[in-house]
Amino acid sequence: MSGIIVYGTDWCSDCMRSKRFFTAHNLEFDFVDVEADSCAEEEVRRLQGGERRIPTVVFEDGSHLVEPTHQEIGEKLGIIPRANREEYDLAVIGGGPAGLTAAIYADRQGLSTLVVDSASFGGQAATTKQIDNYPGFPEGVGGGTLAETFLNHADGENTELLSATSVLDLLEADDDRVELAMSNGQRVRARSVMVATGTTYRTLGAPGEESLLGSRIHFCSTCDGPAYRGRSQLVVVGGGNSACEEALYLATLVDEVIMLQNLPELTADIVLRERVLADPKITVITDSAITGFAEAQSSSTDGASVSVDFIHGPDRTAAQLSPDAVFEFIGLRANSANFTGRLEVDAQGYICTGSDHTTSMNRVYAAGDVRRGSTKQLVSAAGDAVSCFLVIRDLVLAEKKRSLEAV
Ligand SMILES: Cc1cc2nc3c(=O)[nH]c(=O)nc-3n(C[C@H](O)[C@H](O)[C@H](O)COP(=O)(O)OP(=O)(O)OC[C@H]3O[C@@H](n4cnc5c(N)ncnc54)[C@H](O)[C@@H]3O)c2cc1C
Repeated sequence: MSGIIVYGTDWCSDCMRSKRFFTAHNLEFDFVDVEADSCAEEEVRRLQGGERRIPTVVFEDGSHLVEPTHQEIGEKLGIIPRANREEYDLAVIGGGPAGLTAAIYADRQGLSTLVVDSASFGGQAATTKQIDNYPGFPEGVGGGTLAETFLNHADGENTELLSATSVLDLLEADDDRVELAMSNGQRVRARSVMVATGTTYRTLGAPGEESLLGSRIHFCSTCDGPAYRGRSQLVVVGGGNSACEEALYLATLVDEVIMLQNLPELTADIVLRERVLADPKITVITDSAITGFAEAQSSSTDGASVSVDFIHGPDRTAAQLSPDAVFEFIGLRANSANFTGRLEVDAQGYICTGSDHTTSMNRVYAAGDVRRGSTKQLVSAAGDAVSCFLVIRDLVLAEKKRSLEAV
């Protein structure tokens, strides 16, 4: 065995992410599946005083990190990624499907491009187990596999990919450049910037939730719902428009949908509310609060399901459900907090742009899920990045042509 051991499971998206860090930095590691190896599971529990949180990464010196970010692993190993140049034609903030698509196009146009991602590359796509609606993959494709494919395609000769590094601020430089302040302490300049920082699904933060995200707890019913067709029960968390729309859709796939809403009633528009309440397959439990999740064995299906503990009603009665999966629709958070002082955002933090992707800051553009009005689908995030890139390309190539003519 090599010095580094990653304990995890093959369905855990955070485990995939940790593995990707070591691969990206050419570091040898061994992966041990705790579900296939009871001694490995015992070892993880020993390290964590009885808990079994994954990934657990054990280093050569015997120390370990539980569910580490890339930045934490980098700090532990003394790896601080740095950009190679001081200036680029294009800096892309965020290496999800939008950012990586922009990199593919920029490389083909010969633009020097830096793609910076605070985690690893692939964005939200990399965190999902199976993607069934991406063109070209009729049998579906693993999110990690697709993200890897995007990354390999984006790794062109004009492109530099910098992971585990956050862009903390954007500053207007004095000579028609934008300066990026990064978490590694470095500042780089760019003629143009594409902000493609995406969104993060709001989660409940309930015990047991984290380790089931992407496997039994989902956020996209069009993406993950069809995998449960014909199953007996799904739980939908939330009571707004998205939760009601998604519950109606999921009820067409399974025998029963239980909605757990924390407020005394559904808050969706009246028409949606009435449709939900009239649907014989949907049961709404209001005034409820989820207290924990755990993996469970389902008798009705062919594999593991999830157990959901919750309290409800005026006397906060404790209850439990064992659905095949849980879908949470309690909102999205745009990843724009670092730029809200610089870029105009709407009430939810989505970046406001013109139809040409321009933001309120000169030379800064936005694309993908973080942009106001985005459709939160992979294929549209990639397409949005292309239309944004074409605007940037025209600006950069025209400027470069002018500078050449001036020489
Ligand atoms: C569990 C799950 C399942 C999904 N399934 C499907 C599906 O089956 N089909 C489908 O079409 N869509 C699906 N989606 C939605 C799809 O993944 C998104 O629409 C798509 O990933 C958006 O791409 P993006 O590049 O705009 O943003 P993201 O994918 O969110 O990528 C943004 C990137 O920016 C980085 N970042 C954020 N802030 C900073 C910063 N300050 N500095 C540097 N980097 C930063 C993040 O680390 C991230 O890697 C799913 C989403 C989730 C969460």
